[in-house]
Amino acid sequence: MTQGRAAAIARRVIPVGEALATVCAAAPVLGAERVPLAGALGRVAAADVVSARAVPAAANSAMDGFAVRHADLGGAPVRLRIVGVEPAGSVIDTPVVPGTAVKLFTGSVIPPGADSVVKVEDTEERDGMVLVRAMPAAGANVRAAGEDIRPGQVAVAAGTPIGPADVGVLASIGCVSLVVHRRPRVAILPTGAELVEVDETPGPGQVVNSNTYTLAAAAREAGAEPVVLPITRDRAADIRAAIVTALEADVVLTSGGVSVGELDLVKDALAAAGVERIFWQVAQKPGRPLVFGRRGERLVFGLPGNPVSALVCFYLYVRPALRRMQGHRRIHLPVVHAALAGSVRKAKALTEFVRVQLAETPDGPVATALAAQGSGVLSALGSGAALLVGPPELSELPAGRRFPVVVLGEMTLAREAPPF
Ligand code: AMP
Ligand code: MG
Repeated sequence: MTQGRAAAIARRVIPVGEALATVCAAAPVLGAERVPLAGALGRVAAADVVSARAVPAAANSAMDGFAVRHADLGGAPVRLRIVGVEPAGSVIDTPVVPGTAVKLFTGSVIPPGADSVVKVEDTEERDGMVLVRAMPAAGANVRAAGEDIRPGQVAVAAGTPIGPADVGVLASIGCVSLVVHRRPRVAILPTGAELVEVDETPGPGQVVNSNTYTLAAAAREAGAEPVVLPITRDRAADIRAAIVTALEADVVLTSGGVSVGELDLVKDALAAAGVERIFWQVAQKPGRPLVFGRRGERLVFGLPGNPVSALVCFYLYVRPALRRMQGHRRIHLPVVHAALAGSVRKAKALTEFVRVQLAETPDGPVATALAAQGSGVLSALGSGAALLVGPPELSELPAGRRFPVVVLGEMTLAREAPPF
């Protein structure tokens, strides 16, 4: 981006799509670190993990039964002589020659000469002989060597978010540790002369600093490591010094002090701390005064102080950046399209994120706007809430029209029910 264009963006109110694209483009994928397998859940593999082994290592039985030669069973029922017994974990060398069988169990290695397994339910054993009542398909109940993982195969590819099955696959190939993308460290810096700590009783005009808790929880949920900094009062030099400290982290989130009042000192303090402003003000409600900047690879979000605005900006802009930094390829929250239950008035020329409740109906998902849409009503973003995206060109969202709805938690997506 040219200097002139960057300066122009930094001065004007930008559309939401441009703000999000700008943030995503600026977020670097962080470097790698090695973690023990047991700590890999939720991390993103930073390199391919190649297996040196086959899983399973040898062909083995999927059933308790008898290893046989399929060619022997043409005239089933057939009697075969039992030439050995092979519990799982032991291996016998006795080959299965014509007219014989080896008794084995789930996981037992298929003995030489055998090609199929008859399950025990289809047999009768007496006097060292087994009567096979029904002929199984050739190769029945045999798990091939390497049917899960072949030697040289990529067991987990770079870019994979590690889930429980991946952890198990890695264990099965003997991988004790792996290289994953680093988690971003996120410094949280609350500003405001009115703020008191959570264990203090607010006096007249004072407000509990809840944003630190909200943002630390949201950062952790997004896979990042929050670093909580003390409350900074509305004094330019203090805010600047705190920002300099906060810039040791990968991402800085300030809260408060970004609108146009005299005490909104964060923008100037960011500049004084060497942070290049990329944009200030997004054509949205809530969260219009959002600031985004960077110093080198460090990203800085100047979030508005209002609790709803701060969290909405986190979900929509900070979270995708944190996900990208951890190597995720899916970085945005899920979106469903839902019909609006009743009409909603909104500010023209701004994209409005209407707090709604989603419900499944036979005609598809329906979104009902919550009564409280104030930017201070954080309870409206509690469990089950979702954000309906009202486009800037409308001043009223008509009932019955379908709009995109950003789903904030899994419980919002659909009604929960036992699967069977
Ligand atoms: P500001 O953006 O600094 O003008 O703050 C707007 C409003 O957000 C303030 O009046 C406070 O009520 C609220 N606020 C600011 N910072 C916090 C915080 N850390 N925790 C909770 N509420 C806050
Ligand atoms: Mg303030």
